[in-house]
Parts: sequence; structure tokens; C-alpha cells
Amino acid sequence: MPELSSKPQTGDYVLPFRLEGHNINGRVVQLNDLATQVITRHDYPEAVNRLLGEALVLVSMLGTMLKFDGRFILQLHGKGAISTLMVDYAPHKDGVGEMRGFAQFDEAAVHQALKEESSLIGLLGAGSHMAFTVDQGADMERYQGIVPLAGETLAEAALEYFQRSEQIGTAVRLAAAPLLLPGGKVEWCAGGIVVQQTAATGGIDLPPEGDPDYEDEEWNRLQILLETTQDTELLDADIDPQTLAFRLFQEEGVRVFDRRPLRFACPCSRARVQNMLQGLPDDDQKEMQAQETIEINCDFCNEQYVFRPEEAFVAAPQD
Ligand SMILES: [Zn+2]
Repeated sequence: MPELSSKPQTGDYVLPFRLEGHNINGRVVQLNDLATQVITRHDYPEAVNRLLGEALVLVSMLGTMLKFDGRFILQLHGKGAISTLMVDYAPHKDGVGEMRGFAQFDEAAVHQALKEESSLIGLLGAGSHMAFTVDQGADMERYQGIVPLAGETLAEAALEYFQRSEQIGTAVRLAAAPLLLPGGKVEWCAGGIVVQQTAATGGIDLPPEGDPDYEDEEWNRLQILLETTQDTELLDADIDPQTLAFRLFQEEGVRVFDRRPLRFACPCSRARVQNMLQGLPDDDQKEMQAQETIEINCDFCNEQYVFRPEEAFVAAPQD
């Protein structure tokens, strides 16, 4: 096994890598504290948490590939037991990618669907879809890609998206699971790996043989390798992403790049909630002013903001 260039580094990050001699880039993701922070701020059923954990992994893979200053958003929308699941990513100016997420669902319907052995994607019901949005602020054009939710897992649904939008060979694995600690405490681990074929540029990336059949064969082999990777390998906090990449692809010549650190963060604030309230239609504002207190919960981080009616609708300080 190749020697590691540094000691194992666990935590919350994406590790980009490249398979030397192949037109293939990849990313390994490990989320521990981040997944725990996002998930334990809510009290969702375990199946919803698993889907949320996997969505965090998928968004971290894609968000860290984009060069932009805005927010990258994944939304799953359905008419089934889960109606909405949303995760977003925004790079902070200190270089750390900030992430958060939430879900909306009918708890009884989730349990009923699971009794009927619904898949995680099946929890969103028929006619559901997934949307990826790049939001670079009010003055910039929003990019959005929408595809029907296909398959049984989020990884299968993501592949459908890649096939339709990018049309480049992609293989992806996503996993999330709770870790039960002594004393009943629960932490979450989420992890995943993606490999993606890249277009050859100027011949530099062509394999020495330059043989398309050889490339196809290699690609098939890598796809199978990824499919047979166990969830436990993706989720083991004692195996850092670099070790996992070397273990899986030791024959392919792995070159790893700088890791991309991530953390949980929600940019909501009292001032932002106040601005939101002031943007509501007059009728809604009147109705709220008649209440004793106005309580607004942030969907993402579950922070509660409580206002007296007379303070809710005055101009908020800029933050
Ligand atoms: Zn929040």
C-alpha cells in the first residue's frame, strides 16, 4: 500500500483526487461533526435523517466543484411522505464551505411507507423531482437544473441527473448512518465517493495506450469497484478519506489534492427574520400583529426567533 503523505485527518471535508493515467477525477467525502450538527438540530425519523445525510454528501461533492461566490442548493420535492428536503452549500470567505439542511414530511406517512418497505427515494412519492440551483445573489442570473427523481437511492437519482445534464460517465456512492454512543447520545456519520470521467484536453490526459477500449474496460472496472464499496468503509471515522482513496484505487495511481474543509453554519439572524417579516403581504402582517408574540423558526437550523408585535415590524439593523 502506498505511503500516506500525512497522518490520517478525519473531520468534515472533501478530498479531491485524480487517477493518474486515466481521464478520471474523483472526490471522497467524510462528514462527522457537520452531519451530526445538521441532523441533531431536528428530531426527524431515522430514514429522513439518512436521506438528509446522503444529500449533505452529494451537495458537498458538487458544491466544492463549482467556482462561484453564491449558494448551491439541492431541493427534493415530492407529494409522498416527504414533501421537501433541502441542503445547501456556500463557500465562506475563510475558505471553508458552509452547509445546512432540513426536511418537511408527514411523520405517520413516513412510518407507513417504511412498513411497506419504501426505498428512501420512494418516500417522496410518485412524480417527485430534484432541482440543483446556483444562486449568486439578487442581481445575478440563477441557474437551475431539474430532473425527475429516479431510482431507489439518492445516488441513483444523482446519476440520472448527471446522465441528463452533463452526459459524462459518473459513478457515485453515498451513505449515512447514526452512531449510538454510550448514554443514548447519537452522532451521525455521512460519507461518499464519486468518480467522473473528464474530457481529454489537448491529449495530455489520454492514457499512454490511447486506446478507447482500454479506457472503457478501466471505467467498467472502476464502476464495479465503487458499487462494491461497503457503507461501513465510507462511514468509518477511523479511515480518513485519503486512506480510503488509496485503498480503493491503489492500482490506478491516486494523486490527492488539497482537502476542502466544511462546517455546519446557518446565516439566519434576528435582523434577517425581521426583514423577511416586513416583506410579507399587508394582510399577513396585520394578522401577526394581532398575536401576543410572533415566533419564527428557521427551517434549516431550528433556531427560534421570538418578537413582540411592536418590535417585529420596525426596521431591522443591517447585518
Ligand atoms: Zn438558521
